[in-house]
Amino acid sequence: MTSELNIRRQIIESSIAMNALGINRGTSGNVSARHDRGCLITPSGLRYEITKPKDIVYIDDLANAHGKYAPSSEWRFHHDIYRNRSDVGAIVHTHSSFATSLSCLRMTIPAFHYMVAVCGGNNIRCAPYTTFGTQKLSDYALSALKDRKACLLANHGMICVGATVEGALNLAVEVEALCEQYWRALQVGKPKILSKIEMQTVLKKFQTYGQAKKASNSR
Ligand SMILES: [Zn+2]
Repeated sequence: MTSELNIRRQIIESSIAMNALGINRGTSGNVSARHDRGCLITPSGLRYEITKPKDIVYIDDLANAHGKYAPSSEWRFHHDIYRNRSDVGAIVHTHSSFATSLSCLRMTIPAFHYMVAVCGGNNIRCAPYTTFGTQKLSDYALSALKDRKACLLANHGMICVGATVEGALNLAVEVEALCEQYWRALQVGKPKILSKIEMQTVLKKFQTYGQAKKASNSR
């Protein structure tokens, strides 16, 4: 079983990795993982490189923050996602360039590529705009994430969820790549969208793949 200290370390390592992978800049992104009855989350505005495991903030099931620093300003949607989605063990939120650019156009990413299915369906929704850190944004994010593992937030960025911190981070890299590909395809013409039937075939294949992964990762 992963210890609390290890989860705190994983959160810091993944935050540093977000910047190294080019999907985040500065401290605008945030990472969390389910722990006990709440979640552990990156502190607000603290550079990832100087963040220590003890600086990671614990938010309990009643939304009380425990730690030396204030939690990320986006703690609310992290907290609400864990409460509403038992399948989620970790969350990565970034303002990556291509996802954010498309979110500014308030675009839902259609099934222009079969890999859109890794997000759980035949599109990646874009949640409506509202102020960061609010309950309203959390509500919008939860509905955009319905039956999905990723969504865009209008004029803001993206959210990816996963069973583990590593899984959520890998998905964030994938979503950013998809957004870049979609953006590039739009420069040349109108991308052909895959049919529902084609996407159902891919989704079925991914379900089996997911189960195999789960079994091999079981703790
Ligand atoms: Zn944000």
